[in-house]
Amino acid sequence: MRILILGPQGSGKGTQAKRIAEAYGVPHVATGDILRAAVADGSELGAQVRPILERGDLVPDELMVDLIRERLADEDGFVLDGFPRTMAQAEALDAMLDEIGKPLDAVILLQVSDEVATARLRARAAAEGRADDSPEAIRNRLRLYHELTELVVERYRLAGTEVVVDGERPHFVSHGGQRRHDVVLGPPRRGGDVGAFLDFLRRHQMSVHEGENAQFAAAHSATRCRPLCR
Ligand code: ADP
Repeated sequence: MRILILGPQGSGKGTQAKRIAEAYGVPHVATGDILRAAVADGSELGAQVRPILERGDLVPDELMVDLIRERLADEDGFVLDGFPRTMAQAEALDAMLDEIGKPLDAVILLQVSDEVATARLRARAAAEGRADDSPEAIRNRLRLYHELTELVVERYRLAGTEVVVDGERPHFVSHGGQRRHDVVLGPPRRGGDVGAFLDFLRRHQMSVHEGENAQFAAAHSATRCRPLCR
């Protein structure tokens, strides 16, 4: 299963990506984690990206694309979190996956408002004290998301690959207890596997309902979007 997870900072991307990766037995590839590990190791890459991370700016596309190319080289499946963030990165990823004939199965978009995102990031800053959780860096990261990464979201929306999840539901990000959220299922790309993805959602007791893609749902009766686990 090759899944891309998109959404602003504070949308619960990391939490959900981990859970999905675990369920599918594929690696959770989070570019932020890779870069923070490089900083912690004091590697050359770490020294180069450290000031960029602290400001909440974006690491140059070329460097990110090389890093991802290397990381995904031998992986059949993955949950990709934090990449692509710019159109250039998205184009590079698509070309990379096309080349090896391994298209994405689904793109998940977690949607939260800036208010909710900011509140969550502030709370996390208080709890974890990440270097880029200063108010200025938080503002910068959200601004870059709206300016650059929303174009990436739009690109995948037009390619018909996304699943939209309301990331503001209170139990969406909680680990234990009840996990139930609304999922709008979109058509997968060529070769994508909606059936397997729906099974996953069902196993995790998510409620799936017909949304913007009613036409698609009608055309795929086997994977028809319908209320589940109600
Ligand atoms: P967040 O999504 O909360 O900003 P991440 O952990 O995904 O945090 O990323 C942390 C930082 O790593 C980003 O602010 C950015 O500086 C850098 N980074 C991560 N992924 C990318 C990417 N695809 N392109 C450029 N910079 C990136």
